[in-house]
Amino acid sequence: MKTASIISVGTEIIRGNIFDTNSSFISKSLNHLSIDVKWHISVEDIIDDIVKAIDFVKSSDLIIITGGLGPTDDDLTREALSAYLNNPLNFDPEMWEHIKNLFIKRNLSVPVSNKKQAMKINGSEFLFNRFGTAPGIYYNHKNKLFFLLPGPPVENQPMIKEFLEKKLRENKFLEGNIHTEVIRIYNSGESEIAEIISKIKINSELGYYFTQNGWIEIHLTKKGNDKFKNKETVEKDLSKIIKKLKSKNKALTENIDLSLLLLNKMKEKKLTLSFAESITGGNLTGDFIKNSGASEVFISSIVAYSNESKIKLLNVSEETLLNYGAVSKETALEMASGLKEKTYADICVSVTGIAGPKGGSKEKPVGLVYFGFILKDKKYSKKENFFGTRERIIKRCINYIFMEILNNI
Ligand code: ATP
Ligand code: MG
Repeated sequence: MKTASIISVGTEIIRGNIFDTNSSFISKSLNHLSIDVKWHISVEDIIDDIVKAIDFVKSSDLIIITGGLGPTDDDLTREALSAYLNNPLNFDPEMWEHIKNLFIKRNLSVPVSNKKQAMKINGSEFLFNRFGTAPGIYYNHKNKLFFLLPGPPVENQPMIKEFLEKKLRENKFLEGNIHTEVIRIYNSGESEIAEIISKIKINSELGYYFTQNGWIEIHLTKKGNDKFKNKETVEKDLSKIIKKLKSKNKALTENIDLSLLLLNKMKEKKLTLSFAESITGGNLTGDFIKNSGASEVFISSIVAYSNESKIKLLNVSEETLLNYGAVSKETALEMASGLKEKTYADICVSVTGIAGPKGGSKEKPVGLVYFGFILKDKKYSKKENFFGTRERIIKRCINYIFMEILNNI
């Protein structure tokens, strides 16, 4: 099986000012193509460091370098590869014409500094960049493939899609196989999941990750030449894991956005939806409407953060707020009823809670959340005690709501 390494070039990455999302995007693409990714390296915009990084990954069959192809003096990726291979850069007048035209078409003057983007090492090929001036460079050096790609993801992602597989196929790099399956688990702790899974005997490679969005992803992978065997092994393991997790009442889905899964199911069932948001402050709606087609399902949201707004906008009674507080079963249910009166959606959901880090008390700690659900003719409330930072508690509320609706329609 062919191996690959990715080098991301940029002082801003090393300083921590931007996230290296290029490497993860490219790695995922390579995984799909059954290429085994060995290393991710980030380096500063320093020519010697880029050369050292290339030297470090020289055993890889495929080396992809992103960033440092811009017009300024600190963009040094071309120069570094040229130095490493001891192969000079040549000026390509045709490419320079093309780059100049990009400026002329927009009535801009042509910066001379961009001229260096028309340089490539002897024997290499330019890769067309539809969204910027810097072309990529592809070079086959003794059957080791180099790709140099511009740093901005809007430029390099289309280039990856357009050229990577094509070039790998041309060079007969696509022979090994990897099969991967991913599932997501919601509202559980990592150690709890680790313990459950450790008792299962599996034959795939296993990884689990707590994601930023508050769910755990389990990745099962099998590498090898026999495509069908890989698939069979992974699928067998996957069904063992799912069975076990389900027996422990764990909420799980395939690797697809929960809000999208919900949207699709609601479309299919021709149901409409509204939210009354307190603790989530609009994030719940934001997460749902990010999917195109949400308008077929989504009616309205009322963000009622203060007590006054709960009274005015959702008809929660002052008495309820006084007697039980804003974070209570009673308030959650009245919020949902008020929402139903105003929006007539088939499904009305309210959420109120304490996101923290301040504002908790002994009776009502940070992470306490009440939900009100009106699902067609059922009306009920749920209570949860979530753990974690403010951000994570809010995300968990959102996941919980999507999951609850999914399981009950
Ligand atoms: P440009 O012509 O825009 O300068 P470039 O190829 O020289 O392109 P860089 O200067 O390295 O690229 O990066 C330009 C911008 O692209 C960065 O400021 C950053 O926003 C984004 N970028 C660069 N590298 C990465 C990366 N590894 N992951 C995500 N974004 C990146
Ligand atoms: Mg640059």
